[in-house]
Amino acid sequence: MPLVLVQSNVKIGVMHIDVLTLFPAMFLGPLQESILKRAQERGHLTIIIHQLRDYAFDRHQLTDDLPYGGGEGMLLKPEPILQAVRAIRGTAEFPVVLLSPQGRLFNQAVTQELAQHSRLLLICGHYEGFDERVRIALQPDEISIGDYVLTGGELPAMVMIDALARWIPGVLGDDESARQDSFAGGLLEGPQYTRPLEVGGIEVPEVLRSGNHAAISRWRRQEALRRTWLRRPELLTRTELSSEDRKFVAQLEHIAPESGATSNNGNR
Ligand code: SAM
Repeated sequence: MPLVLVQSNVKIGVMHIDVLTLFPAMFLGPLQESILKRAQERGHLTIIIHQLRDYAFDRHQLTDDLPYGGGEGMLLKPEPILQAVRAIRGTAEFPVVLLSPQGRLFNQAVTQELAQHSRLLLICGHYEGFDERVRIALQPDEISIGDYVLTGGELPAMVMIDALARWIPGVLGDDESARQDSFAGGLLEGPQYTRPLEVGGIEVPEVLRSGNHAAISRWRRQEALRRTWLRRPELLTRTELSSEDRKFVAQLEHIAPESGATSNNGNR
């Protein structure tokens, strides 16, 4: 039986994500808390977890086997995956995503692109990955969450679901916040402050307390530019900048990075 993570009175969410995995229990907990839990309760998002083994019809319900030609580890057999995709899809048409370290890299632009779909099927690999015929038959969108190898596609699927859910209207308390977060406009978000006014001698910048919305907005833009320039300068070349932005960045070029600003990744 497929597992619906959080039940809702609303039959099917604005976005419906099916996940095919050998390890459904890994999804219990992370997707049943906080914002994602509320999103499902309110019918914005439906997540259904399918056990791959339910689609293995041989006597021992085998889902993996030794690789032809020898080598380490086990491969996921193709027939259970193809059978599961046929059953889950039915006559509906929607993208199939194969989690794979060989896929295109998942970033904010890809989340926005995939969030346009009302339904997706995510297939999690495990062990040594997939028999190649899964790729050939399904022609899936292969997605990698980074240039490193994990033991399975379950954590990447959860990362994807979380990032996609943030684009569904109504999921975040304030729909503006997704647009202001890092990467949304091509830049990193600048520094943010909350109460108290002063901690260890460090005060909240005066401008944020001024009530002058134009000045606050200019300061935020400049701090986003500064932070991006310091930490991820390559992003600036891909972002549309106004002439005022460009002037500000040009000024930064004259400041030695050691002169007070800090970088968190050693880029500069
Ligand atoms: N032998 C495969 C290779 O070299 O490409 C790696 C298999 S990996 C150990 C097992 C599974 O974890 C993959 O099939 C995939 O579903 C998932 N996985 C591992 N790293 C991933 C990544 N960076 N992004 C997305 N999925 C990943």
